[in-house]
Amino acid sequence: MKSLVLLGGGYGNMRLMKEIIPSALPSDYSITLIDRMPFHSLKTEFYALAAGTAPDKDIRVQFPKNTKINTVYGEITDIDLDNQIVSVGDTRVDYDELVIGLGCEDKYHNVPGAKEYTYSIQTVQNARKTYQAICDLPSNATIGIVGAGLSGIELASELRESRQDIKIKLFDRGERILPAFPEKLSNYVKKWFDKHDVEVVPKSNITKVDPGKLHNNEDIHEVDLVVWTAGIQPVEIVRNLPVDTNDSRRVIVNQYHQIPTYKNVYIVGDCAALPHAPSAYLAEIQADQIAEVMKLQWANKPLPEKMPELKPQGFVGSLGEKQGFAYLMEQTVTGRLARVIKSGVLWLYKYHNG
Ligand SMILES: Cc1cc2nc3c(=O)[nH]c(=O)nc-3n(C[C@H](O)[C@H](O)[C@H](O)COP(=O)(O)OP(=O)(O)OC[C@H]3O[C@@H](n4cnc5c(N)ncnc54)[C@H](O)[C@@H]3O)c2cc1C
Repeated sequence: MKSLVLLGGGYGNMRLMKEIIPSALPSDYSITLIDRMPFHSLKTEFYALAAGTAPDKDIRVQFPKNTKINTVYGEITDIDLDNQIVSVGDTRVDYDELVIGLGCEDKYHNVPGAKEYTYSIQTVQNARKTYQAICDLPSNATIGIVGAGLSGIELASELRESRQDIKIKLFDRGERILPAFPEKLSNYVKKWFDKHDVEVVPKSNITKVDPGKLHNNEDIHEVDLVVWTAGIQPVEIVRNLPVDTNDSRRVIVNQYHQIPTYKNVYIVGDCAALPHAPSAYLAEIQADQIAEVMKLQWANKPLPEKMPELKPQGFVGSLGEKQGFAYLMEQTVTGRLARVIKSGVLWLYKYHNG
């Protein structure tokens, strides 16, 4: 029996399982899925979990149940590419083929105190801790959110709706929010924040975090709690693999999404060096291609000379319960429609995976 081992039950590996089970997986193969959590966590909703607007059960999806799938729940502590063994504490799991989809964690850019004194929304456990800490804040407390990318914006707006009694400061590195996208989109988001009393601090450069203090350029901001949403990097175990990585420490893969020096190992999602910003959607379309490659190899057929380009469609973000913003197929969409699209995407995802 051959063993296909999937590390991480995130968006990438969930999609892969959907594509190869039940019919494509050869009869002499079994799958072992390893994750620290006993369910697939909807990471795209962690901002709502932290803000207290989505209950824990709404961000969980069961892993697929199939006699071909074994599950191991625990912390992956080592990946030995030469001997083809994954360690989960004392448990050893051998593989013939491996897919690494372990996602990412916060990147603190060497800012002193950032790791020690800020909260995170990058794992379900951390998002829960953040939620608890926010719940315990008294009225009139100030929350600082460092980083006004998609997750920082969604967290700030959701928090505003869940806690109207606190001050929210969103520290944005750029001159305007989401500078890589049309000004119309930035203006819409900024207007929402102005209307809902979220202070956006532009041109921010956080140089240090102390308990209760954020050092931004020459200023010191008094804060009761800080959430860090200012950058991501692949999880440590992947950053430490003895393979080539790009400047963001993402693993360089060939066009078939394999590590060039270990062609039986695929990298999916946020851990892979791809020509687009990491996203759940990108992880899924990449997983589709990995499934195609695997199917051809299992059938002893040649791989295409050139794989099709990965083409992400854009992104959709929420501004609380009723408003949203999106950039889809190079078009800006704002307001209620964008929010409906976001809710629809989530509903469909749960419908097809639940
Ligand atoms: C707040 C927020 C909002 C977002 N919104 C969007 C959005 O609207 N649209 C979009 O496309 N993307 C969005 N993203 C990005 C998206 O969530 C990620 O790109 C996506 O989750 C990456 O998928 P993945 O398969 O690489 O890994 P993940 O989905 O992150 O899954 C990784 C899995 O690995 C497991 N794991 C990690 N390390 C270990 C270990 N050592 N041992 C055992 N298990 C481990 C984790 O438990 C997890 O199940 C958002 C991200 C955040 C944080």
